[in-house]
Parts: sequence; C-alpha cells; structure tokens
Amino acid sequence: MSQRITILPETLTNKIAAGEVVERPASVIKELIENSLDAGATDISVEIAAGGRRLIRITDNGHGMSREDALLSLERHATSKIRTDSDLDAIHTLGFRGEALPSIASVSRFRLASREPDNPEGTEIIVEGGKVRDVKACGMAPGTVITVEQLFFNIPARLKFLRSAETEAGHVGDTVARMAVSRPGVAFTCVSDGRELLRVQRSDLRRRLAQALGKDATADLHGVESSGSGITVTGFISGPAVVRSTTAAMFTYINGRFVRDRVVQHAVMQAYRGVIDRGRYPVVALFIELPSTEVDVNVHPTKHEVRFRHQSAVHDALQAALEEVLRHSPWLPRRPEQSAAPSAPPASQAYRERIAAAAQASLAMPRRETSFHAAAYEKPGNEGSTPTFPAPAGPVAVHEPATPFTPEAAPGARQGYFSSLSVIGQFHGEYIVCQSGSDLVIIDQHAASERVAYQRLREQCLAGGVESQRLLFPETLELSFSETALAERFKTELAGIGFELEPFGGNTVILAAVPRMAAGNNGMRLVRDILGELSQLGTSAAFREAMDSLLARIACHAVVRGVHPLDHRQLTELLASMDETDFAASCPHGRPVFHTITLGEIEKIFKRT
Ligand code: ADP
Ligand code: MG
Repeated sequence: MSQRITILPETLTNKIAAGEVVERPASVIKELIENSLDAGATDISVEIAAGGRRLIRITDNGHGMSREDALLSLERHATSKIRTDSDLDAIHTLGFRGEALPSIASVSRFRLASREPDNPEGTEIIVEGGKVRDVKACGMAPGTVITVEQLFFNIPARLKFLRSAETEAGHVGDTVARMAVSRPGVAFTCVSDGRELLRVQRSDLRRRLAQALGKDATADLHGVESSGSGITVTGFISGPAVVRSTTAAMFTYINGRFVRDRVVQHAVMQAYRGVIDRGRYPVVALFIELPSTEVDVNVHPTKHEVRFRHQSAVHDALQAALEEVLRHSPWLPRRPEQSAAPSAPPASQAYRERIAAAAQASLAMPRRETSFHAAAYEKPGNEGSTPTFPAPAGPVAVHEPATPFTPEAAPGARQGYFSSLSVIGQFHGEYIVCQSGSDLVIIDQHAASERVAYQRLREQCLAGGVESQRLLFPETLELSFSETALAERFKTELAGIGFELEPFGGNTVILAAVPRMAAGNNGMRLVRDILGELSQLGTSAAFREAMDSLLARIACHAVVRGVHPLDHRQLTELLASMDETDFAASCPHGRPVFHTITLGEIEKIFKRT
C-alpha cells in the first residue's frame, strides 16, 4: 500500500497562506499597520525603498511584545486577539487570524524588533524565508519595528507580477492614506526612497481627509451623521461637483475597517443616482458602525470583504443617511450661504402640502399647450419649428399668476442661486448665458429643464404619486409575453408613477393614462421604455429602487430637446424653477446643467494676466 498523502511542512503552508494575504508590498503594509493600530499605536511610520520590493519598514509606538510573544507571533495561527469560538463572533480588532507575520516572514528577509514599555530592552528576531536565524536582545524605543527586505526573494513567480517601483509605491501610498483616514487620532508618515509621501499629525477627520486626498477633493464636503436601528453612519460625502472616474476616493469603513463592499458601494451610488453621472464616483469617507454580531469579517484573508447579517437593513440605512444629506445640502458652488454641515432644515410639511395642493389643483385644470412638451424630441425633424418651450414651471406652475409657485412663495425657500443670476441672454437657442458677480455662468437649458421636470416628478411621488393625465382616446398596445406580465405585476406601482394600463385580453393592454408631464407625446413609446427598464426587476422593492431611473426616463420624455429660443420671462422662469429643485447641478443622466467661467479664466484667454 502506498502512502500518497503527507502533511505539509509549516514553511510551505506559510508560503501558501502568504499567497492569499501578501499580494504586493501594499498588502504587507496593510497587515503591518493593522497590527500597529491593534497594538494601540498613536504614531506609525512607514518607509519603503524601490516601491517596497527592496525594503519595507514599519515603526510604531504601540504596546510592543515580550520576548516570548515575539517568538510566538511568528507561528501560524498565533494571535493575542481571539481565544475562543465565541470571540470570532465579536471581533473588535483589525486582525484575528494570526497569519500575517508568519506569512510575510516566509516570503522575505524579515526582522522583528519589539519592546514593551516597562521592559528595559527589546527583542530582535531575524527570519529568512520563514526560518528563524537569530534571536537576541536589543536596545530600542518602546514599540515595534518590522523590517521586510527583498519581498518574494524566494518566490520568483510572485516577483514577476510586481509592477514598477512607482506603481507599487502608489499602491502603498493609497493603503497608508486609507488607514490614515480611518484613524485621524493617529499620526502617520510614509516615506518612499527618501521622499515623503504623507505626513499627518493627529487631527480630526475633515483635516485628515484633506491631507490624504488633497484640498480639491475635499473642498465641497458635507457631514453625514445618522443612527438608527443599531446602525450608525458618520463621515463626509462630496457634493456632485467633486467626482472621480474611479472608486479610489470612496473610503468606506465598517467598524473601523476599510472595506470594498458591494452592498455598501451600491447604497452610496444609489443615493447619488441622478446627482452625478453614470460611471462617476463621489469622494466619500463613511464610517459604518454596527454590532459586531451583525457583520462577519472572516470572509476573506485580506478582510476587504464582509458579510452582513441583515444586508438590506445596512444598505437602506446607508442610502437614507446619504440621501438626507444630499437633499438638504446647499452644495451648489459659490452659494454664499453654503455650509459644510447638513444644516438646512428638511422641506417643511407645509411646503410639501403646498406642492400636493398645487399638483392636485392642476389636475383639474385644462392642460396648457406650453407645459412640458416633447414633440420636438419625438420628431427630431421638428426641432425648432414649434418652439413650445416647456414652461419650466411645469404643471405646478400652471396657475400663475393666481397661485404663483415661486421660490419666494415657498415657505423656508431662500433667494436661490439661479434666480440671483443676471441674464445676459441666450446662446444658440440652447444655452442661457448669465453673470454672477465676476463669473460667467452658462446653463444648458435642456439639461436644466429635464432636471427640473425630474425633480418635480420626485416631489409628486413624495406627495402621494405622479400626476397622471387620462387620455381622451386610450391607446391599445401589443406587448410581448414578458412585457404583459410586467404590466400586470407592476400595475399598482405603475399607477403610482402615472400610468394606467388595463389588460385587454392576450398580450394587448389599453393605455388609459400617462404621467401628466409627458402627456401629449408618444405615450406608447414611453410605456415601452418603462417596461424595458422593468424587465430586469422582479419585486416591488426593486421597482422602488429603480424609481429614480424611471422618473428620469419620464422627465426625458417630458422636455423639449434641441434649439429653442426663449423670451426673457421664460428664461427667468426656468432659473427660478431650478432653485426650487434640490439637485440642479446635473441632469438626471448626470450631465452638467451649468458651467462657470471665472473672470480670471477669461482674462487668461485674452492674456491680460
Ligand atoms: P493577527 O493580527 O491576526 O493576530 P499577526 O500575524 O498579524 O496576526 O500578528 C500576530 C500577533 O503578533 C498579534 O496577535 C499581536 O499579538 C502580535 N503583534 C503583531 N504586530 C504587533 C505590533 N506591531 N505590536 C504589538 N504586537 C504585535
Ligand atoms: Mg495582524
């Protein structure tokens, strides 16, 4: 009988574990900083040479280790952070697996020096490729210094995967920044080939963020602070003017641990939907705190992923916290009353009632020809020929001047930024050119009216449902099997956004009413578009989640595209209605609504500076 199976020697199992934990210099640094933080360090310095390939050194002033512990720490599954099964359910430290030190030591030339504060001397241990070469006493300041030289010297295959020193140093910088943001109370320095990448003193989160991300990224930040049902969310999020094309500036932490979590990211992006463009990402530093029994961090060796016990509760709490801030933050650039904290009061009940009343009253009124009209959009050839520009105020302003719905008339409304602009005129029938102090402000009138329409639809939803318009001649629609099923399944929800669809046998349905704002246009096409959007969704919850996107689609059908001359009154009306909306910086598709050119920029063009 042959024996095929053997238990692998520990040096080999450590190397295998290193494959998971240690991908590149930055991952070594992440593990070592985690250890320093777990050791209560208040000052951590990182030094690297050649992107960390030649040298990584982390020095901390934490509680250090005794000689025995220092030796033990290099054993696999040796940890001071958990002891029993039940500890695994309540992890309060960043580490707990007892894998990092032996893994790193098995793939490098490694030196650990550590001293407890009440011990007159420290211990130094030299390890090479996982084998302890020397242990001796050493003089040093209290704390721990770990030096990793020639990472992957004994795994040439891994070495090949490392990128240039600059790239690796970049990853190291990102990692240190992420960790520095998570602990503003800890001082960090990071030096690469003698050059200082980061040096931050102990401070508060806001300042720390500015130091880690740069002033530009943090010029327009809004505080988030919310707690409820056991989930606390704090931190800062950017206004839509500060966006990035990657998620690199999205710093999300769960119980102090940096994570890249799908649920968390989705919730953030959901809150920003309609505020920023698709494919763009905000700058955020969000700290989500929840009972450790609610989250499992033991999902992946790098601990970048987590699993929530109540995933949707976390998702919804986070989304709601962000939406609250976005809704009430006067984030528009250059607004004099702008403040960083989410201090604006929520729309008052009276304000909402007014919207509801205005909406209801307008239902009873005959539709004005100049309300949101998509004729030109539906028939591109028509553009410009019938300049029935959307009275930007839409249905709620139909009753002017009897019940003017202006920002001034709305309780709590401010003299808005857009109303305060002085209009210079219209450019190319598509842009409104204005002056604000010494700035030139250009507004895309189509994006603006789409934004206004979208926001009005949202307000109507809030006030009980999108206003609908019954069709004089109901239209019959032939649908596919799946579309018919969707129309049936989401009948109530569709009614909530203004559509009335009645089954008429087989795959035929009758379209009896459409959202009022989009009435007069190709209702069938809109319904098909909406059903197309719904085809991905299975539940009412998913419908609610898709709501913004559905409203954006209705808004898109509700406004005029292309060239549209506007008179002065229409221009100022549009500006006023932009102030009534919360998010006017981008259209529902995320394209910018307006652009500012400063006097300085103009002077530069004319070489006056
Ligand atoms: P883990 O962090 O999962 O416990 P590690 O292999 O990273 O596993 O570290 C093993 C142990 O070594 C830790 O539990 C801790 O007790 C000790 N240790 C590691 N780094 C430090 C440090 N910088 N200061 C003090 N103790 C440390
Ligand atoms: Mg650790």
